[in-house]
Amino acid sequence: MVNELRPLRVNAIELLRQPGTERPVDAAIPAEPLGVVHERLDGDIGVALVLASMNDGIVVKGSVRAPWSSACRRCLKDIAGVAVVGVDELYQIELTDEDAYPIENGQLDLTAMVRELALIELDAEQVCAEDCAGLCPACGINLNTTSCECDTTVTDHRWSALDGLVLDDS
Ligand SMILES: [Zn+2]
Ligand SMILES: [Zn+2]
Repeated sequence: MVNELRPLRVNAIELLRQPGTERPVDAAIPAEPLGVVHERLDGDIGVALVLASMNDGIVVKGSVRAPWSSACRRCLKDIAGVAVVGVDELYQIELTDEDAYPIENGQLDLTAMVRELALIELDAEQVCAEDCAGLCPACGINLNTTSCECDTTVTDHRWSALDGLVLDDS
């Protein structure tokens, strides 16, 4: 069986032996083995990173891309896109930097970091446009395409009980 996470696991000893060397990691990782379970995810997680060996660790730079599809938070229109998050992390065998990720058993494992970043990006609520007008809270029409006469500035709760009434003229 193919190990789909293999591109994310790099021999750190080999890299650390030659400070100054770089190694690219470019891969499309399926969400399931990565452990990214999210209703908005819509495809493989893209990883485009460069691992640079330093004297005290390995610096990982690049980006993680998560394709998503969702409903606009304001108008509920179906929208899709790709969330791109920049990566600039340090991996160390001996953790001298408190923000560094550990290198365990000589292996630099990018899995946890990629999973974490993808999930944070997918959690962000999306809008179809920054100036999306949303739906009218009174009649529910899409204010991006139509306008209505609703007065939504003042709500008189004395009449709210009548809102559910259906007048039958027949
Ligand atoms: Zn919208
Ligand atoms: Zn309205």
